[in-house]
Amino acid sequence: MAHNFYIDTRGLHPTRPTFTEAIIHGMADGGGLFVPNDLPQLSLDDILSLGEKTYAERAAFIYKAFGVDLSDSVVDDLMQQVYGENFTTKDICPIVSLDAQTHMLELWHGPTSAFKDMALQCLPAFFTTSAKQLTEQGKLDHSFMILVATSGDTGTAALEGFKDKEGVRIGVLYPQGGVSDIQFKQMATQAGDNVMVWGVDGNFDDCQTAAKAVFGDDAFAKTLLSNEGVRLSSANSINWGRLLPQVIYYVSSYAVMVREGKVAAGQPIDVCVPTGNFGNILAAWYAKRIGTPIDMLFCASNENRVLTDFINTGTYDISERDFVLTPSPSMDILVSSNLERQLFELTSRNEEAIRGWMDDLRAKRSFRVDVQTFSQLRKHFVADSVDSATCFATIKRVFEKHHYLLDPHTAVAYQATENLRAENPVLVVATAHWAKFGESVYRALHEIAVGEDLPEEIAALSGCELNALIAQETECYNIPDSLAYLDKAELRFTEVIGKDPQGVKNAMLDFVRA
Ligand SMILES: *Cc1c(COP(=O)(O)O)cnc(C)c1O
Repeated sequence: MAHNFYIDTRGLHPTRPTFTEAIIHGMADGGGLFVPNDLPQLSLDDILSLGEKTYAERAAFIYKAFGVDLSDSVVDDLMQQVYGENFTTKDICPIVSLDAQTHMLELWHGPTSAFKDMALQCLPAFFTTSAKQLTEQGKLDHSFMILVATSGDTGTAALEGFKDKEGVRIGVLYPQGGVSDIQFKQMATQAGDNVMVWGVDGNFDDCQTAAKAVFGDDAFAKTLLSNEGVRLSSANSINWGRLLPQVIYYVSSYAVMVREGKVAAGQPIDVCVPTGNFGNILAAWYAKRIGTPIDMLFCASNENRVLTDFINTGTYDISERDFVLTPSPSMDILVSSNLERQLFELTSRNEEAIRGWMDDLRAKRSFRVDVQTFSQLRKHFVADSVDSATCFATIKRVFEKHHYLLDPHTAVAYQATENLRAENPVLVVATAHWAKFGESVYRALHEIAVGEDLPEEIAALSGCELNALIAQETECYNIPDSLAYLDKAELRFTEVIGKDPQGVKNAMLDFVRA
């Protein structure tokens, strides 16, 4: 495809950016999200031929099909760098079949052992390359500071992705005491000369509120740009540069399943995705849209079931919904930002409808789609939610039946699959290694409910020690080195700052000037 350009879901952005410009810009002016104007159409032969290629080659093929404004050789080189040694398997995301109808797509073989790596290894490579190209074209003359508020997974993956990248610094805010021992140590021991990590005296919501206040402060952004030559940016999942890498693994997986004889060429599959911000499942929809033989998309929610209710009723309503903390924290979300892109596509790109619904969501904390859009939604999606007790029971049952350990996010998807499956084989998306959530896995296997005390000798263990114990008990010795040796790594970042936005801004200035 010739160079594609991007449009936005609310029709308010003044220009039609290219891929590199859309990545650097992040969110569209007016609050909308960028989508490519043209979508490629792949034939079954195109898709099946990917099965014979390396993952890096498949990724490069998809990027080119989407018409990115980077030369073919630049795309090829970037993909060789991104999908290489930093994953623990050359398959990058292998598919493990538990039975003929249930195929686990393991997206956790990257450097931080969670699926965010799939996109956050890619985005920084494209981000810095895009920035360089725009600088050479005279369209940019500054460096960047990425600010991320995290409840755990995203921060680590973003740090690992952006570490030592030219022209970018990255700072992460996490709730002090609000992340697991493993997640804390992953961030506090992070390598790289351009990285910074701050614990915030508050909860995740406080971190997000502080980050939003910083992003909303135009005067601060101006000072940062004019005095320090640094533009503030975010790496969150509304950036198109995080979505496209996710489309790749769905197309790639289909080719691999056919090659491995798991499905016949052209036979449709269903896909089940443990869903939070709707990014991962939206990527599966795009994979279907461009030609992958995917039939139904199963949306799996935890107790924060706003998406499941939306798919079942057509009303998205958070007006009286409480935020629930669950053992699958990366799916604890009330406003799923990427749903906006999905609705844009399902309405045949009706920006006026999107503006109306997003206005309703802001004003009334709810919106209701029209009958036609609802029937489109039901054509592609079914949904179910799984509560925390059932999630734990699923981890235990699947271990006993298949000798396969699920993390709590994947367990939600596995159980939703059991509830929703029809005739098609199902690709169940596994989004984290179990050892990232060792405490929950231990509770599940020993039938200790959330909130119930752990035995004292277990509570005293570090995250690494607890994982080692689980590995011994289950004989699942597949803990990645990056998680296994965290206790031995040197703590680099232990600074705790207040949740007041001014404190965050001061800390950022110190970091940028250092
Ligand atoms: C982020 C995340 C999810 C949710 O993905 P979305 O793209 O936000 O829907 C699920 N599981 C894990 C482990 C995650 O880190």
